Amino acid sequence: AQLLHFQAEKLSLYGEMAAGLAHEIRNPITAIKGFLQLARLEKKEDNDYLPIMAAEIRRIESILNELLLLAKPKATRFCRNNLIEIIEDAVTLLHPQASLAQVDLITTFDKRPLFIFCDKNQLKQVCVNFIKNAIEAMPKDGKVRIHVKSRPGEAIIVFSDQGKGMSKNILEHIGTPFFTTKEQGTGLGMMVSNEIVKSHQGTVAISSKVTRGTTVEIHLPQMAGIVTQD
Ligand code: ADP
Ligand code: MG
Repeated sequence: AQLLHFQAEKLSLYGEMAAGLAHEIRNPITAIKGFLQLARLEKKEDNDYLPIMAAEIRRIESILNELLLLAKPKATRFCRNNLIEIIEDAVTLLHPQASLAQVDLITTFDKRPLFIFCDKNQLKQVCVNFIKNAIEAMPKDGKVRIHVKSRPGEAIIVFSDQGKGMSKNILEHIGTPFFTTKEQGTGLGMMVSNEIVKSHQGTVAISSKVTRGTTVEIHLPQMAGIVTQD
């Protein structure tokens, strides 16, 4: 199995750049969207291009939204949250996609509730990103297992799938902005998730075996929010 630990500094710079860029692009996109709506309202004859343009704009918007998760001021919304609830929220969000793909999401916990200091929405996004990748890596009838371990001073979340896994080459590239092997991928999920975990003083480790599956392990200190409150 291949093992990868993200390189912190490289990704942090990417994160800053990406968030800045996303802010700059968002305003012109909003303007274009408005004019597209006007054009549709005022159209005198059918124009097939308008829906295509609107769909592409929506795609740009979803990329921007992912990038903007990095721009949120860090540590300001840290508070005591039940990690189990956050994970259950993420699983509920992905239920439709999982049942469409005929994939089972199986969640187990060492203990509940399990409180950690964190930004609830950001951590939920991290869980959504990793579970989504797991679903997308699997054929029908696969299982995604999400297990939460409680250790002194830290919580560990393990996501494992029985999907196609990643080659050494792919493992070396994940987390690089826009690196994707999917037709409809943004290639941002890994980078955004890693940035968020880092801002919680946590770590992400990935091990993967081609055709066998992938395991993502997140370590989160329970008191991260207090440490970063400056
Ligand atoms: P996206 O999902 O939009 O492609 P990500 O940053 O989430 O972007 O993932 C980057 C790439 O990493 C994916 O395109 C895929 O090749 C690989 N990957 C991530 N998670 C998994 C997984 N659980 N199993 C197999 N490949 C994965
Ligand atoms: Mg993804």
